Amino acid sequence: MSFVRVNDIKQYFYCPRIVFYQYCMPVEKKPTWKMEQGKVEEERIDGLEKRRKLSAYRLGEGKRQFHVWLASERLELTGKLDLLIESPAGLFPVDFKFTTREPSRNHLFQLCGYALLLEDAYCREVNKGFIYLIPKNDAAVLDLTPELKAETLRTLEEIRSMIEHERMPPATSLRNRCVDCEYRNFCADIF
Ligand code: SF4
Repeated sequence: MSFVRVNDIKQYFYCPRIVFYQYCMPVEKKPTWKMEQGKVEEERIDGLEKRRKLSAYRLGEGKRQFHVWLASERLELTGKLDLLIESPAGLFPVDFKFTTREPSRNHLFQLCGYALLLEDAYCREVNKGFIYLIPKNDAAVLDLTPELKAETLRTLEEIRSMIEHERMPPATSLRNRCVDCEYRNFCADIF
């Protein structure tokens, strides 16, 4: 059984080679400034979040659980969710992001990965989630549709196949992503 992480889905959409290098050529990762800053801000948000009302998520009542570890043998997937809201309106995954930009496609698929894990663990449908934009102090609500879930599952299959066959994928076409990439040295073929 080869488990992958929800974070891998996000990275795969950002640049599939990053996931390939992490599994097929493991190297020690240096934390980037953005990662460090994100960690500090997440701790601050945890404190604020405990005092925040659920109205920030347009929800009347509910229970919050922070840093929830999830794993599914069926999906061969694991992940640590920043926040889970259990309310009469449903289960909602929340992911904190240290960015002012609107959630991008890779964030959407990452959130969908958490939704799939929650559905598996709680045997309940999860159709919406939130991305909390830390600098903006605002939560964006995202629809987690059946089509999105199906595409997320297809992507997980692709990732597993890439790892199993040690097949190097194409580089991202967005070369500005390579500037601060810790795997830049492995991508000599594109520079
Ligand atoms: S250097 Fe660019 S292509 Fe290579 S892994 Fe990093 S982001 Fe992807």
